[in-house]
Amino acid sequence: MGMDVNTQLSRAGTDSVSASLALLDELPQLSTAVSQLFEALSDDDIDRHRLAGIIDQCPSLAAKLVGLANSAYFSRTSRINGVSDAIFVIGFRTVRSLATATALQEPFANHRCPAFQPGRFWLHAVLTGHVARELAKKSSHRPSLNPDEAFLSGLLHGIGLMALAHLFPEDLNRVLEQAGQQPGALSEQIQQTFGATHHIVGAALLKRWHLPELFSCTTEHYASQDYHGACWRICRLVALAHDWADRVIHQDTGTPFDPRSLNLLGIEPEDGEAVSISCLEQLDTLTGLAELISGEKPQFCNPHVVADAAVELKDRLVDTIESLSSLSALTEIDIQERSEKGVLRGALKVLMANQDMQRCSIFLVEGDELLNAAGLSWSEQNTKHAEKPPAPVVTHRFRVGEGLIGLAAQTGEMQHCRDCTADPRFKATQTDKDAGLGSIISVPICFQDTTLGVLNISHLQPNIFSEWDERFLYVFCNMLGQLITSNRLLRKMEHEIEQRTLELQVALERAESLSILDGLTGVHNRRYFISNFSTLIEQCARYEHKLALLMIDIDDFKQINDSYGHLEGDRILKAIANILKQCARGADIIARFGGEEFIIALQDTECEGAHQVASRILEQIRRLPCGQGEQQRGITVSIGLSCYTQTFNMPIKTPEQWIQEADDALYRAKRTGKNRISVHVADTPGKNR
Ligand code: GH3
Ligand code: MG
Ligand code: MG
Repeated sequence: MGMDVNTQLSRAGTDSVSASLALLDELPQLSTAVSQLFEALSDDDIDRHRLAGIIDQCPSLAAKLVGLANSAYFSRTSRINGVSDAIFVIGFRTVRSLATATALQEPFANHRCPAFQPGRFWLHAVLTGHVARELAKKSSHRPSLNPDEAFLSGLLHGIGLMALAHLFPEDLNRVLEQAGQQPGALSEQIQQTFGATHHIVGAALLKRWHLPELFSCTTEHYASQDYHGACWRICRLVALAHDWADRVIHQDTGTPFDPRSLNLLGIEPEDGEAVSISCLEQLDTLTGLAELISGEKPQFCNPHVVADAAVELKDRLVDTIESLSSLSALTEIDIQERSEKGVLRGALKVLMANQDMQRCSIFLVEGDELLNAAGLSWSEQNTKHAEKPPAPVVTHRFRVGEGLIGLAAQTGEMQHCRDCTADPRFKATQTDKDAGLGSIISVPICFQDTTLGVLNISHLQPNIFSEWDERFLYVFCNMLGQLITSNRLLRKMEHEIEQRTLELQVALERAESLSILDGLTGVHNRRYFISNFSTLIEQCARYEHKLALLMIDIDDFKQINDSYGHLEGDRILKAIANILKQCARGADIIARFGGEEFIIALQDTECEGAHQVASRILEQIRRLPCGQGEQQRGITVSIGLSCYTQTFNMPIKTPEQWIQEADDALYRAKRTGKNRISVHVADTPGKNR
């Protein structure tokens, strides 16, 4: 559509204005109801019931009026349901403003021009109309200016812009974006783009709508200082009001009305000043009116608003950074080194360090109760002795469902109590009462479908926590739930590992003992003997202890096995091992050296003593019965003995030498008839007796 206009305009050349205006035919006509309304509004004598009857035909306007009558601007106890009552409450004049503007706005409700902001447009229009009316009242010029005409002229003066937004949304959007904030630039650029200013477009539109000529005249000429035609006074008035409205929207309320224009209109500067002040006092109401007309909140180009927004943004940024710090600090809590209480306390410290609160605590679910597991107050966190262990927490408990904490656990939903004194959910403990709590948030700490506990944060002031705090706590508790669960899993794993290690140790000890003992007889095995005997030799040499070695072999054991069977043979082996244990001392090493061969290292024992031990062994074994009944027979062993009394100048014998000597002696005992002891005297190597 924008292309068509441009082509049309360039082709039209100097006639571009009329060409552009021809396009106004595309604009919607006013509805019959709206036209009637206009007529009714210009009738000073109309009563409110007839006006209500007309307004009732415009449903959106009727709804707006009733809405306005019930709004905060007109605080009333009873509800207003009908237009007639609404007119009564709102006042005839405001109804007129609202009805007129709404009626005009209606055909243009759906435009596609993002840079055109209806909220601000109507705020500007309403302000201009309002100030024009008030100024008109102060004018001493004769014939006097009609305040209502001044109002409507002001309200309508910019209507062309709205028509352009509707007709050429893309082109106007570009123009508005380019014009930016430069005053004056807009008219020029609209002229360049469309071949006509929005003043001309507006005037044409109002003519097409058959509104009184005064309005199209002001709309066309108010911006032109050189205009001296029939409606110049209203034009001046509207221009003054227009500039004032512009300044208010740009938050410049300090500049007074142009004194020359005031003078031309017969308005005293003090009166101008008074109008300005009274209109500023009504700014909220007028803004609300513009919002009702346009359906959107008017945006001021307010440096303070921008500054406020910047401050708010900064606050939000600080909040964000604090929240992120809390969350990152939470992830840094080292669960490896902490008990569950340690983790909970660590989490509370992190929370307290980065968020504004007086106290925080964690309750954990135990059965159908919630028990206080950790707590931290602002003063504790900030004392110098923060490292000192915390004072024991008074054990509070809540049943699931009881109080805010119980409710949070039961429902799995955050409970935000903005004012503890007025909230029936809050069940105060004595400490809470003493503290005089104001605000509390109780947040469930969950992991997957399980509620682990509840986190509470509180403050003495009511209404202190924001939606932002709620959102942050939600995330914090999610992470805390994971942390607690990980910690519990870790502890469980640690416990299991401990148990396993213990079991393993027992098994290992068992295996170890098995590896050094002979399975049949329970005395040590050959491997153990070999590895310990050399140590024993060295020790004895160092402390000049004596040492003796007995090698014991059962006589004719093969026959025993053959005659009585292997089981009996085994029993004999065990019985002999027991005798050896009885005859030796605790520090001696007894081992099964081979099939039916035993060896004993006797500590601190001289040859003679060793011989006595060997004799005792011999004796006791001889008494050992073997077989049953008539077949019973005795058992004998042969013993080879190696010993010596260590002297300083003697070389130390190796284990092999010791064993060899004992074996030699044993061999000799066998050879000389068995059932005896043969001694190899170490001091005289090679010589046995
Ligand atoms: P000697 O008087 O010359 O020592 O003759 P011996 O029969 O005792 O000696 P020999 O070396 O000929 O036989 C040893 C026997 O010991 C052979 C073997 O069957 C038996 N023996 C070895 N270990 C075990 C065992 O664990 N249990 C039983 N029942 N017999 C064993
Ligand atoms: Mg043997
Ligand atoms: Mg033997």
